[in-house]
Amino acid sequence: MSMAQPMKGIAPKRLAVLTSGGDAPGMNAAVRAVVRTGLDHGAEVFAIYEGFQGMVDGGDRIRPMTWDAVGGILHRGGTIIGTARCAAFFTREGRLKAARNLLEFEIDSLVIIGGDGSLTGAHIFRQEWPELLAELVESGQASAEVAGRHPVLTIAGLVGSIDNDMFGTDMTIGADTALHRITAAIDAISSTAASHQRAFVVEVMGRHCGYLALMGALACGADWVLIPESPPDVDNWEDVMCHLLSSGRKAGRRDSIVIIAEGARDRNGSPISSTYVKDVLEQRLGEDVRVTILGHVQRGGSPSAFDRNLGTLMGHAAVEEILAAGQDGGASLIGMRGNRITKSPLMFCVEQSQAVARAITEKEYDKAMELRSSSFREAFRTLKTLVQALPHEPDAGQRRLRLAVLNAGGPAPGMNTAARVAVRLGVDTGHIMLGVQQGFTGLIKGDMRELGWMSVAGWASAGGSELGTNRKVPVGSDLYAISKSLENWRIDGLLIIGGWTGYEAAYRLCTERNNFPAFNIPMLCLPATIDNNLPGSELSIGADTALNSIAEAVDKIKQSAVASRRCFVVEVMGRRCGYLALMSGLATGAERVYLHEEGVTLADLQADLNHLIAGFSRGKRVGLMIRDEEANPVYSASFMRDLFEEEGKGLFDVRQAILGHLQQGGNPTPFDRIQATRLAARSIEWLIAEAEKPAPAGAFIGLQDFAGEFGRA
Ligand code: ADP
Repeated sequence: MSMAQPMKGIAPKRLAVLTSGGDAPGMNAAVRAVVRTGLDHGAEVFAIYEGFQGMVDGGDRIRPMTWDAVGGILHRGGTIIGTARCAAFFTREGRLKAARNLLEFEIDSLVIIGGDGSLTGAHIFRQEWPELLAELVESGQASAEVAGRHPVLTIAGLVGSIDNDMFGTDMTIGADTALHRITAAIDAISSTAASHQRAFVVEVMGRHCGYLALMGALACGADWVLIPESPPDVDNWEDVMCHLLSSGRKAGRRDSIVIIAEGARDRNGSPISSTYVKDVLEQRLGEDVRVTILGHVQRGGSPSAFDRNLGTLMGHAAVEEILAAGQDGGASLIGMRGNRITKSPLMFCVEQSQAVARAITEKEYDKAMELRSSSFREAFRTLKTLVQALPHEPDAGQRRLRLAVLNAGGPAPGMNTAARVAVRLGVDTGHIMLGVQQGFTGLIKGDMRELGWMSVAGWASAGGSELGTNRKVPVGSDLYAISKSLENWRIDGLLIIGGWTGYEAAYRLCTERNNFPAFNIPMLCLPATIDNNLPGSELSIGADTALNSIAEAVDKIKQSAVASRRCFVVEVMGRRCGYLALMSGLATGAERVYLHEEGVTLADLQADLNHLIAGFSRGKRVGLMIRDEEANPVYSASFMRDLFEEEGKGLFDVRQAILGHLQQGGNPTPFDRIQATRLAARSIEWLIAEAEKPAPAGAFIGLQDFAGEFGRA
């Protein structure tokens, strides 16, 4: 990695990074990206320790950062530069001291990673900057010359907050990790609850924002959720909740889970506490009810792969924004919308975010929901449908469709989550759902069974494929056999949850519609593969879980090398798509990734070897190279290991690790569960609507952005 030098005669740009307010996992990734991007552009980068307090105190709380100072922190939770709440910064006097300290270091650009409070403070500071400088000059605390060199303060704000409560970004740094903690806890609670047929009330963080509660409920298949933005719309909500829970019990459900955000309230604005919900359930259901308040566990621990990458991408963008702003300065919020890094006016975003909290306090709940993103509202709608869905008899005279669900391709965590949602929504709307065993092999044999409401219990969180899956793509006489199966079972629509195999098979069936009339039914592919290599979809179900499995494994591999100088060549899955290699490289701090898309040449390997030798000679202890399994057929992982080890000439040793099938296993991450739920809900709607048409389509749905846009081709 090059470290560009500033142009001769021009003083290098100086910028500083600080973390403020509540800590959030992924802040370290952002700090690392800010420091390294700044250095790479020839800037001088400082870290301000302990948030605004460090800026007010000055001295050694403001320190120059080096490339290596931010090494080895990607996987660490919290923030290594410390964070604090600072009473002094609320006062002009405190901010005057802060300005003096910044001026002493000639710093006039800040990357601030914090919540809306911190960003508000930063905005006020920026507005006052010229006056503060004038005062410092007047009182002799700063020279006019130095002050004149820094007429404006430039600010780039990144939102570090587990609550995901900021306007202007789909995700805040830390929210995904908090959801990891929440889903792990609820999964664990579900198993004990099911053993005893108990109900649990789980309280999660979120004073003004129900994001964690809502998404946690969606990811874990909870029975009821209470969030601040949208209180229960009836006064007797306790009756409705108890009725739902007891119906679930009658249907065979062994565990009941209610998730409540700490800021939950009723229509009248009165807080609803977890103990109140517990008492209601105990009295009315006559069951044993337990409360678990998750608390600070949600803030802690190693950041998820998503948060590491979000922090990295945002930190990088913040520095580019500052350097591009030049002397004009500016105050932007770096966010992510539709899976793309964006920038928006800082204060507009802060004001909009605060407007939600105000709307809740003023009991304007429709307005509060309106101010949340469309994906939040959509998730709430889906959740409401899912919790209200109960196995009931179809309406009299209704056409009952027979819809088949199958998995295809390699296993992808989240396949079961999608199948569960499809089955339950299908059954709830009066249709008959059939599960095909073992992918297209089962369809050829006609091996399927009706799936009832309870047959998919527990599938929300289970990894693997309960229906069974394989890579069979039908050919020749298989097509005839499939058309017979479809006719025998009177199938009206087919949902294929899977990867490339499923797409290829569905395409083949669609192109054979003229020869096999049984294929004239709607068919839909829902993208589920860890390889993330499907058309029309930026993120397929399973890729996020695989990415986290890789990051966890690589963290451990790196830790194993503490004492020696060692380089690892880690091979990950992905076939011809470098997504897993690239994103895991970003999440684990690899110095090099080898992708199929880019290929590998001997000259590349030579350059990388030289880079390794230079690094280890400088004192580096661990090296990490990640290769996609099909990066190059000749330059394999073992070839690279032998080459680097031989040419390293004892300076460092080299080990290879081929991660293999652990990448396809594991329970799905919250992100994969949430996307699987949303896509499956849309898929079933589509199949039902399409089945009524004279010429039903074949289609695939895709996630075009994080907001869950639904596309069809
Ligand atoms: P968060 O950034 O997570 O929302 P806080 O609201 O506690 O956390 O804010 C963190 C710090 O930011 C405060 O302790 C204070 O130093 C500073 N800050 C917050 N609001 C303001 C404000 N209105 N004026 C000046 N400084 C502020």
